[in-house]
Amino acid sequence: MGYPLAHSLSPRLHAAALSSVGLTGNYRLFPISPGEFDAGIGGLLARMKGGEIHGINVTLPYKQSVLEHMDSLGDDARASGSVNTIWVNGSVVWGDNTDTAGFLTDLERAWPGLQPGQSIILGTGGAAVAVAWGLLQRNWHVTLIGRDLQTIRFSPRLQGFQSAGALSLMSWQSLTSGRLPDRISLLVNATPIGMHPGVANSPWPGGVPLPAGSHTYDLVYNPETTRLVRDARMQGHEARSGLGMLIEQAALGFERWTGRSPDREEMLKSVTASGDGSES
Ligand code: NAP
Repeated sequence: MGYPLAHSLSPRLHAAALSSVGLTGNYRLFPISPGEFDAGIGGLLARMKGGEIHGINVTLPYKQSVLEHMDSLGDDARASGSVNTIWVNGSVVWGDNTDTAGFLTDLERAWPGLQPGQSIILGTGGAAVAVAWGLLQRNWHVTLIGRDLQTIRFSPRLQGFQSAGALSLMSWQSLTSGRLPDRISLLVNATPIGMHPGVANSPWPGGVPLPAGSHTYDLVYNPETTRLVRDARMQGHEARSGLGMLIEQAALGFERWTGRSPDREEMLKSVTASGDGSES
């Protein structure tokens, strides 16, 4: 469920996941407009409890607002304050956030030798906070960089990291003012800048070199090679887009719903078969 949903890749990913474990099923999109949110989530949860629906993915703009409809939350949902996966156990409705584990798995697969150090995350939305929570658990220092810092409300777990000095906030202007932390080894883009159709855009300011020796992870996966990833590679940096995270977070949700582990390679093929994975 989300709004709008017309260009979601999830039906293809989950069709491949189902076929890879020999299950039949149907992954349907439920676009629910903001004015219909309460009735929409109520209806879907009733159908889950009745056994008609096995699991729900939640995407923008409802990842935070579904929280209060959950009976129980996984650690990652509680800490990041957002839910992207819902399932029922008995009569208990569970919500968790598989973006955190999806990101960490793909990061560690991409750069197994990368040691925790200073990281900066561009953006302060749901995905930025889910990634920050993952990195903090792995002993990274995290600076979230956003254009509106007044509205951010961290969960108690993240407030703890903030008090301990491992999590901080900086304004978007810091990118050009030269006031970024020293020795940044990981830069994460968690804004939609560079996403189709704005493929010529980069969140990193033109003319400013990327932090020396840093790795760049762009959560945007459409196009598969974003402007930021291309620019980083041209400057001699290791860089990766968010396609691997997309597959992994979907696979982890599928495992919660079915108890089966899908073939990630088949899932990847389902969204890159057209050649470039460029559909959103
Ligand atoms: P979100 O909650 O809407 O947050 C977006 C963030 O980007 C906000 O902090 C927003 O700032 C900032 N932003 C947007 N446009 C900006 C601009 N022009 N300049 C500066 N900041 C800007 O969205 P989200 O769920 O966190 O998702 C963010 C991106 O990650 C999306 O592209 C999404 O597709 C991607 N994502 C990828 C995966 C994956 O599996 N690879 C998973 C989750 C998300 P304001 O609050 O000031 O608007």
